[in-house]
Amino acid sequence: MFTAQGQAVGKGYAIAKAVVMSAAALEVPHYRIAAEDVDSESQRLLSAMASTRDELRAMVDQLPVDAPRELAPILTVHSLLLDDPMLTQQTCAIIAERHYNAEWALTSQGQMLVEQFSQMEDEYLRERGADVRQVIERVLRVLAGKPALLPGFSAAQEEPLIVVARDISPADMLRLRGGHFAGFLTDLGGPTSHTAIVARSLSVPAVVGLGSFRSLIRDGDFLIVDGFSGAVIVNPSELVLAEYRERQEAYRRERAELEALLDAPAVTLDGINVRLEANIELPEEAELALKAGADGIGLFRSEFLFMGRTDLPSEQEQYEAYSRVVKAMKGKVVTIRTLDIGADKTLDGDATVATNPALGLRAIRYCLDKPEMFATQLRALLRASQHGQIRILIPMISSMNEVHASRQAIESAARELEKSGTPFARNYLLGAMVEVPAIAIAIEPFVQELDFLSIGTNDLIQYVLAVDRGDAEVASLYDPMHPAVLRLIAHTINAADRAGKPVAICGEMAGDASVTRMLLGLGLKEFSMHPQQLLDVKKEVRLSHSNALRVKVASALNRAERIDLATLAA
Ligand code: PEP
Ligand code: MG
Repeated sequence: MFTAQGQAVGKGYAIAKAVVMSAAALEVPHYRIAAEDVDSESQRLLSAMASTRDELRAMVDQLPVDAPRELAPILTVHSLLLDDPMLTQQTCAIIAERHYNAEWALTSQGQMLVEQFSQMEDEYLRERGADVRQVIERVLRVLAGKPALLPGFSAAQEEPLIVVARDISPADMLRLRGGHFAGFLTDLGGPTSHTAIVARSLSVPAVVGLGSFRSLIRDGDFLIVDGFSGAVIVNPSELVLAEYRERQEAYRRERAELEALLDAPAVTLDGINVRLEANIELPEEAELALKAGADGIGLFRSEFLFMGRTDLPSEQEQYEAYSRVVKAMKGKVVTIRTLDIGADKTLDGDATVATNPALGLRAIRYCLDKPEMFATQLRALLRASQHGQIRILIPMISSMNEVHASRQAIESAARELEKSGTPFARNYLLGAMVEVPAIAIAIEPFVQELDFLSIGTNDLIQYVLAVDRGDAEVASLYDPMHPAVLRLIAHTINAADRAGKPVAICGEMAGDASVTRMLLGLGLKEFSMHPQQLLDVKKEVRLSHSNALRVKVASALNRAERIDLATLAA
């Protein structure tokens, strides 16, 4: 028995036998070719690259409907890499100049590129070296004429296995999906690697960054994967095995109990009804929200329709996207946020660099600066309003002028539709994100003017504490529990309550079950979060006594003290 430690990226426990995935890059033949074979060797390389590219493109075209939405863009990037001269021309140059065989030339060039990526400052770009490596692995497998991923695996195998690999590319992951595996372990990769993203969306325990684990494992070794701590135990003793079987069973029971809450109402022990809504980024996620039992969509981040492309989505395209969500939600309220672009979310082809993007021409400021683009979105929203109840949510509001300008823009979009005889509805509700401290501090007139509010804690925290939400160096200062943040949230909720207007939180805090009681204590009755978090939060709501929590939280806030979450536990 021995253990290895990596980074847990997919929750749960897996207890099963290993199946080891071949790593073509580790088994590359190295030899020199004769001068007269240079052309044919280059040709052999280019045709392997072409067939790999065709294979990847075919995968994109035939993606199953339930495939994780991250897969198509990743596979496309991989197929584009195969057209990149840094890979094609440079590798052929190595074959011509050094007379290396195709595999050797490709791995040499690949190592150089991966090395360049590894020196980049940006963590995301650093991890993209993995994309180059994964594409090269694929080409090497084609060159070797053995596309089999898992030599020790037979599809007829009943019992789920744990895949052990040096790295698993998204394309490999797609192939493996059908196989019903118990877990994934890789030597490489970090928490933001695509492997991690895809593993999470498949809901299987996974651990990445295990060093040289793969070389220590043989097909059939017995493994325990702890998808919480990142520990992997190889050939465990009976005692350890019994302990993990118990943990696995307890976790399974916990999940099953949560599933049983699907149709249960989100109501506290003292009878307060709580609305649990979903945050979505793409129209197709509405189905997920409905399946998770969401009471509505609390935040549709419409900017994702505008990103990853060089043109703007047309009115018709937007109308179809918004209508799809409204129809999918079958009469439940759908909150669509107007374009929140700027800061960390930029449009492709927009080269503007603001002095301080988080404080610059962002969100509503950007939209009011580009009236035609804003009008297109508003017309699409009004047209989609025919199919159900839409709440139009304006991001980054900091002044009443912006509220008035937004309302005028909506009314003028309505007049345009009227004039052209295009069917639409005027039943929309208008609300603002409360994420700039100024409006949280002086919230009363906004409550009067608007139909609803939604507190964006992600930005509110960054602006209150002067801590960039995306900067790892100050991440420890990004403190959702800071009394100043909580006072602003409480102030906003109280003002909305007094005016009888709905108020939600749609920032990450709303989906964090460890702070659900605290938010109930602040008086929150509307939470919007990722659909996967809904049942965990519902469980907390159902175990909470809202009035008792309100008393405890209010007394700490009056003294501007930090709230100790342990004191709010049942
Ligand atoms: C927020 O700021 O809390 C929010 C929900 O919006 P985003 O994360 O898209 O900025
Ligand atoms: Mg925000």
